[in-house]
Amino acid sequence: MTETRCKKLLDAGQRMAFDSALITSPVNMRYFSGFTGDSGCLLITKNARILYTDFRYTIQAKEQTEGKFIIRDFKKYNMPLWQIVSEELEKQGCRYCGYEDNTMTVAEFTDYSRIKCPLGSASALISSIRCIKSQDEIDKIIKAQSIAETAFNQVIEMMCPGMTEKEVAIELDYFMKKAGAEEPSFDTIIASGPNGALCHAIPSDRCLTKGDLVVMDFGARYMGYCSDMTRTVAIGEPSAELMKIYKIVREAQALTLHAVKPGITGAQLDAIARECITARGYGDCFGHSLGHGFGLEVHEAPSASKTSTTVLRPGMTVTVEPGIYVEGLGGVRIEDCVIVTEKGHFNPVTTTKDLIIIE
Ligand code: ZN
Ligand code: ZN
Repeated sequence: MTETRCKKLLDAGQRMAFDSALITSPVNMRYFSGFTGDSGCLLITKNARILYTDFRYTIQAKEQTEGKFIIRDFKKYNMPLWQIVSEELEKQGCRYCGYEDNTMTVAEFTDYSRIKCPLGSASALISSIRCIKSQDEIDKIIKAQSIAETAFNQVIEMMCPGMTEKEVAIELDYFMKKAGAEEPSFDTIIASGPNGALCHAIPSDRCLTKGDLVVMDFGARYMGYCSDMTRTVAIGEPSAELMKIYKIVREAQALTLHAVKPGITGAQLDAIARECITARGYGDCFGHSLGHGFGLEVHEAPSASKTSTTVLRPGMTVTVEPGIYVEGLGGVRIEDCVIVTEKGHFNPVTTTKDLIIIE
């Protein structure tokens, strides 16, 4: 599996004249080698797959990699990592090496730019490979989503007026882990009442109160892969205005979700939701993008924003998460995380979008 990915990278890289790639971010080291540690780097050349890490990780690296990976303890060399990489590239006769321009720090770049072999930006190329998921990756995403929903169903049963946002978030995280998650795929958002207007609210000590809408945005990570969903639930009967907002978001979400299929661009999808919400008078209250791809990272390519020219293709993932946020009143967001298929999309989220009212 990882060998196929390395080959794909070299094949695609060839079109940009790359004959090698230097992988430095932990997430891409994992993608191309299977290694989940965060020390060192991975060098992919025509003839070799060399994973440089340190003594703490060498056993783990051997266990996690398959095929032709060579594991080397870079601390044994008594020279900086960039120099080790430089000599290896020279030894292998490499002439142009792709590097991760999107994630490398200035300090790392200062070091690596001393490599004799010229370096070229390869982050966009890597993300174009990663954004098409294999069936194995899709299966892990589906499992992650099912874990998140198992937890959501348990937490809904416990929620009641008087419980704090923090308590709800802790229970949700606990049930996700208990159901098999490695960790939440991002910091769980529980935003009740007026806090719902903060799109990325941090769970607070505020108690759930009758009349609140509660935005619940959460996901599970399973074997590295992330899910991401949002449901907005009510504590008792919400006001007429909140009910109206909920209906608009639900309509915009359904309309946009229906349009997710190969051939449509991220910007076109964003526009469907935005036009629907704007036509109903709340355009200014939908200030974020429609959605994003997800996989090993909770936010990855493709984006579904006003400016996204990416054309959706089978195997891509995208979230559909329109929202309306009114300062002082509250917010509503509904989010599904879906996988683009040949004919349309597959939605692994099964939770109802009818407003759940907790008494
Ligand atoms: Zn989310
Ligand atoms: Zn999201």
